[in-house]
Amino acid sequence: MAEETIFRKIINKEIPADILYQDELVTAFRDISPKAPTHVLIIPNKLIPTSNDVCEADELALGRLFTVARKIAEQEGIAENGYRLIVNCNKHGGQEVYHLHMHLVGGEQLGTMVT
Ligand code: IMP
Repeated sequence: MAEETIFRKIINKEIPADILYQDELVTAFRDISPKAPTHVLIIPNKLIPTSNDVCEADELALGRLFTVARKIAEQEGIAENGYRLIVNCNKHGGQEVYHLHMHLVGGEQLGTMVT
């Protein structure tokens, strides 16, 4: 069984986080170490360690990541100029926290690699 990460404590509100959105499937909160003016993490509430672990049963939650990203981008005022959505996988992908998460990064012109 996969090990829980610090993101479980954020979902459960056991540690402080700047939560922008939460429902029964997903939670979105500001990254503690932002790489751009807007840097939000959007995660499924269910522990899916990496994108290698997704299955058909996760499709609703994973689709929700995109609709929440779109809404937050609008709220943050970055939708029109654009932003980047990133999912890192495992060591070569630069993944540090093994609870699948989508980075929403924007608010400035981004370079080739931001997170
Ligand atoms: P990864 O490299 O794709 O796994 O990204 C993990 C992200 O989680 C990094 O951008 C971290 O700054 C962020 N992070 C780690 N711990 C916390 C936390 O407690 N609150 C918010 N963001 C966190």
